[in-house]
Amino acid sequence: MNLADYNTLQKILKSEGFNTKKSLGQNFLVNPDVCPAMAQNACNKETGVLEIGPGAGVLTRELAAAAKKVVAIELDNRLKPVLARTLSDKDNVEVIFGDAMKIDLLALIGEKFADCSSVAVCANLPYYITSPIIMMLLEAKLPIDNITVMVQKEAAERLCAKVGSRESGAVTVAVNYYAKAEILFEVDRDSFMPPPNVDSAVIKLTLRDKPEIELRDEKEFFRFIKAAFAQRRKTLVNTVSSSIGISKDLLREALNAAGLSETARGESLTMSELALISNYICERK
Ligand code: SAM
Repeated sequence: MNLADYNTLQKILKSEGFNTKKSLGQNFLVNPDVCPAMAQNACNKETGVLEIGPGAGVLTRELAAAAKKVVAIELDNRLKPVLARTLSDKDNVEVIFGDAMKIDLLALIGEKFADCSSVAVCANLPYYITSPIIMMLLEAKLPIDNITVMVQKEAAERLCAKVGSRESGAVTVAVNYYAKAEILFEVDRDSFMPPPNVDSAVIKLTLRDKPEIELRDEKEFFRFIKAAFAQRRKTLVNTVSSSIGISKDLLREALNAAGLSETARGESLTMSELALISNYICERK
């Protein structure tokens, strides 16, 4: 069964009476080159793979062939008969119907992948919740090796930007804290059914054994980062003082102690500079 073939996919969806829903980010892959490349980058025969949003099962089938075991979480119950059909010949796949944002993934991984030597997340993510899903996966500190996912091209550029470059944002810093991020390849909008209005890219986040910076207080760091990038045109001193109430004097002191200009903007600072400022503030608050 070649689900990446437009006509085959159409025929199966039609015979099950299934119509894609835009509100659930249902753009199904119909480019035969994409899923094998994603699977190859994400896993090997010893890996347990968690997939979010299997849709009709095109990526799931490739993952089943490349990995030891696949557990796929799908929100849309209407896909039950479709997936029962498209995955009927795969005995190392389990589909769970539910919201990936609400399921206890730590418990799920412990339960399902105990016999796997590593765990990876691989998905063509629903674009309406790309960043929340990625942040949830990282913040949950799951025992995973990598997150190999398709996202909108613009999101890929932001998530994988160099911290300290104009393209970086709060999410770039957060991703960098937990993982090494890279864009693997771009995917044209015509690779999907129906085609979305934007192009896409597959990114790989390889989780770090330990963060590249040392923080006094992780929670305070992320509160500070969110504020530092909230108003990109303002200086760090102005945006942080107005949004989380740290005094301008303390912020100027922290910048001086780190050897930085008092007019610096969040987006121009490196991970270690951001850590220095946040640690300085935590020590004196
Ligand atoms: N993997 C399929 C493919 O590549 O063709 C489908 C990808 S489609 C972009 C995103 C899928 O995520 C849809 O099947 C959608 O129903 C599902 N989805 C949306 N929100 C979800 C959520 N919160 N939890 C789990 N699945 C979700």
